[in-house]
Amino acid sequence: MEKLKALTRLEESLVKLPSVGRRSAERMAYALLSMDEEDLNEFSDALKNLKQSIHVCPICGFLTDGEQCEICSSSEREKDILMIVSYPKDVIAFENAETYHGLYHVLNGAISLGKGGGVDSLNINSLLERVSENHFNEVIIATNPTIEGEATALYVAKLLEDKVDKVTRLAYGLQMGGNLEYTDSLTLSKAIEGRRKL
Ligand code: ZN
Repeated sequence: MEKLKALTRLEESLVKLPSVGRRSAERMAYALLSMDEEDLNEFSDALKNLKQSIHVCPICGFLTDGEQCEICSSSEREKDILMIVSYPKDVIAFENAETYHGLYHVLNGAISLGKGGGVDSLNINSLLERVSENHFNEVIIATNPTIEGEATALYVAKLLEDKVDKVTRLAYGLQMGGNLEYTDSLTLSKAIEGRRKL
């Protein structure tokens, strides 16, 4: 039997989510179909609103629905230490680990060696502006322990070489090829403690 077009359309969107296969997408689609109209409208509004209300913080590149993100606008953060990460998800991982209380800079990507670099799409200009306008005692480079992450770390370290006194890189207990996003809080905390000077 041929599936109803509206359900197929919805399933095509659902399978794009992480850990959602065809079977789960189908179950979700039917679950949505059986929701009452009010709940479904709320769900659809939340989706439509998502990209409109959330944007990139102009200072650090993290996500915010305000003018500046929560971290940049907080008076409780240590302002003389900066951690550079590739993705907003990495900020969330470090925040959940509750060990680091400084500021962040999100590159929103990594250098991909196979695809001709990708340096231009990184949030680098605002980083250089930031380090020239503020004094940081230390900049920690916390890109993923992958080939791309390493290439990005080396590139950024070179850029910061004569602009920042102390540039460090996270220690490894971190698994090579792994993602910070999926690394547990204890390992992340250890990696921060054991960071080494570049
Ligand atoms: Zn920010």
